[in-house]
Amino acid sequence: MPRLIGAHTIDIGGIPMAARRAGNAGMTALQIFSAIPKYYNEKAGVKPERVTAFHAALAEAGIARTAVIVHAGYVLNCATPDAEKWERAATALTKELERSTTLQVRGVCFHPGAATDNDRDAGVARVATAMTRALETVDGATKLLVENSAGAGNTIGRTVQEVAGILASLPPSLRARAGYGLDTCHLFASGYDISASENACIGVLDAFEQACGEPPSFLHLNDSLGTLGSNRDRHMLLGEGEIGIDAFRWLLGDPRTRDIPLLLETPQAIEMLAEDDASADPDDERMVALLRSFVAAP
Ligand SMILES: [Zn+2]
Ligand SMILES: [Zn+2]
Repeated sequence: MPRLIGAHTIDIGGIPMAARRAGNAGMTALQIFSAIPKYYNEKAGVKPERVTAFHAALAEAGIARTAVIVHAGYVLNCATPDAEKWERAATALTKELERSTTLQVRGVCFHPGAATDNDRDAGVARVATAMTRALETVDGATKLLVENSAGAGNTIGRTVQEVAGILASLPPSLRARAGYGLDTCHLFASGYDISASENACIGVLDAFEQACGEPPSFLHLNDSLGTLGSNRDRHMLLGEGEIGIDAFRWLLGDPRTRDIPLLLETPQAIEMLAEDDASADPDDERMVALLRSFVAAP
C-alpha cells in the first residue's frame, strides 16, 4: 500500500475540487474543512448530494476515505473558562464530528483552545468535557482527534502531558473513538527539538505514544518559521524553515507513520484559482514528491 501522503488542498469550487486537486498532485491523503473555519457553524450540516459528489471525487483521485482528515474550525475554544463561549464551542465541536461522520472520513482534528484564566488543569478538563459531549451525541467510526498546539499564550495541548491528560479524562467507553495528531511545526515551536537528531525526533513520538497509550492518528508535516520554543505557529515549506529536512526523513522512516495520513499544511504557490480548475499546486506537488523520495516503497 502506498504511504498516505497529502495536504490540506484548496477547496474553491467545493470539497470535491479539493479531492481532484489532491489526486492531480499525486496525493494519497487529504485534509479539508467541512465548513468555513472562521465560523462556529453550529447548524451547518452536509447535504447527501455533497457527500456523494465528494466520495466520487475521492474515488476518482484514488484517495481512500480512511486517508481523509477534516480540520475543525479555528474559532472553537473548548478550553475557555467563559461558559457562553465554551457552550458554543462544544456545540460546534459536536457538529464538526457529525459532519465528518457523514463524510465517512477517518477523523476530525481540532485545536484544544486557550485557558484564558491560566488554569491549565481546568482547561484540559474543559476540553475533555466538550469531547465527551461530541462523542456521546454522535456515534460512528470517525474519530475525534486532539491536535498539539504551538503553545502561544494559554493554549492547551503544548505538552505531552496536556494531550495525554485530555485523552485520559474521557470516559473509558468513549476513549477508543478519540485520539491525537501531531503537527511538526507546533512540536518545534512548543520546544520539542525534533531537528536535533534522529533519536531526539523519534523520542518525541515515543513520549507521546507512551503517555497517550497509542501512536498518533495523523501527522501535520510543516517546517517552522519560528525558532525552537518560540511558540510561533507559522508554517514553512519542508527544508525551508528552522526544522530542516532531516526530521521529515526520520519521521517517514518510523513504522508509526506507515498507515496514517501525513498531511502538509505548507504555503501553496497558488492562492486563487477558478472553481473548476483542478490543477495541482506546484509547491504541494513538489513537497509530496520530496516526501515520497524518503521511503523505499513510496
Ligand atoms: Zn491544525
Ligand atoms: Zn499550525
